[in-house]
Amino acid sequence: MGLERETSVEQALGLGDRLVGGEHEVLGHPLDAGRAAGERAPRRIPWTGVARSTCGISVTLLLRHLTTVPRAADWGEDAGMDHLTAAERAEAVLAAVPLVDGHNDLPWALRNLAGPDPTSALASADLTAGAPDLHTDIPRLRKGQVGAQFWSVYVPSSLDTAGAVTAVFEQVELVHLMTERYPDDLGLALTADAAESAFAQGRVASLLGAEGGHCIGNSLGTLRSLRRLGVRYMTLTHNDNTDWADSATDEAVHGGLTDFGHEVVREMNRIGMLVDLSHVAPTTMRDAIATSTSPVMFTHSSCRAVTDHPRNVPDDVLESLPANGGVCMVTFVPSFVSSAVAQWELGLKDAMLAAGRDPRDHPSRPEFLANWDGPPRPTATLDDVVAHVEHAREVAGIDHIGIGGDYDGVDALPVGLEDVSRYPALFTALLERGWSEDDCAKLAGRNALRVLRASDTPT
Ligand SMILES: [Zn+2]
Repeated sequence: MGLERETSVEQALGLGDRLVGGEHEVLGHPLDAGRAAGERAPRRIPWTGVARSTCGISVTLLLRHLTTVPRAADWGEDAGMDHLTAAERAEAVLAAVPLVDGHNDLPWALRNLAGPDPTSALASADLTAGAPDLHTDIPRLRKGQVGAQFWSVYVPSSLDTAGAVTAVFEQVELVHLMTERYPDDLGLALTADAAESAFAQGRVASLLGAEGGHCIGNSLGTLRSLRRLGVRYMTLTHNDNTDWADSATDEAVHGGLTDFGHEVVREMNRIGMLVDLSHVAPTTMRDAIATSTSPVMFTHSSCRAVTDHPRNVPDDVLESLPANGGVCMVTFVPSFVSSAVAQWELGLKDAMLAAGRDPRDHPSRPEFLANWDGPPRPTATLDDVVAHVEHAREVAGIDHIGIGGDYDGVDALPVGLEDVSRYPALFTALLERGWSEDDCAKLAGRNALRVLRASDTPT
């Protein structure tokens, strides 16, 4: 479902009477890293992670500063980089600390191109040559200074139990194959240490996260098997309720977690599988945080107080993260970060219903939109994302925030964050607003790695 999933399915399916599915026009990917096919990725200088020649900044200049700034240390107030531009400072931060993105749907986007067989799906695009129809490829991961990526092994909740379990294992296999096909650029990472090691080697650490608790088929044995294959988080639901947890975008049935749902959380704690609370209902969030003895994650959610969308996180839940130790990784999905986009989608849904169309029938949406005389779709911007990041920081605290772009899980993205090459622009904007390098490092990856590391060793 790749390009249409987050907006056309994540929003259309299960949103009840609140929101309709989203945009079908793909915004495109104007920022191409421009590396010619076959050209090798820029190599990085050991331990610093600094590309030897990239983005126009002198490596000598960067190293002069970074050698006085150990990779894992705090920058503090005086980073010694005051004379650099914000863009240069952002590049230096992301060169020294791995940017950990919580959620990228490239595996499902590849499956959409060639079907369920993992070998065929992987062969459908040459990620080193650039894949302009996708948000993600290796040149743009490099340009975006992505240090570690949780690749989503998502499966639709429309699949039946057997289909969902089969699909999740196919997607896990696809990610493993992807790291084997691109060994110079991607490094399979099953722990925080392995992620840092891959980053230090100049590779994008490749982690796995399962989206949708339906994929375990109500079986703790399947859950444990996924963990053995390296899956480090599971989102408890997708757009629909599971048999044991309420989704944010379905009618409440359980009032949060069932007894078995609590058992799933405890087993995840025990085996070192992170509890991802994106997509779940606030009742499920609160139940899971109350039960979990490990820090939780929101791998791709923004703030409900800023944009009143059911996929976002209420303030009381953000306020509970310091006690839990977890992290909310702010996402870029336009209708989650822009109230104008969210309202526009409500209007579209009403128009479709009035016309006797099913707003959940997302294949028919482009045709309906082409003939709809409603208002033009508003545009979300990088500044909208900044507002969510800063609200999350204010409510949850600087130690409990991260980034989860949801690239290749949506068909449109905010202006300024069009594809995975654009992360540095976000950090540049934050530095320009007075964020310190240390705070940016926490947002970029230190917090997420701390949470991952806390669950690295099964008990
Ligand atoms: Zn999602």
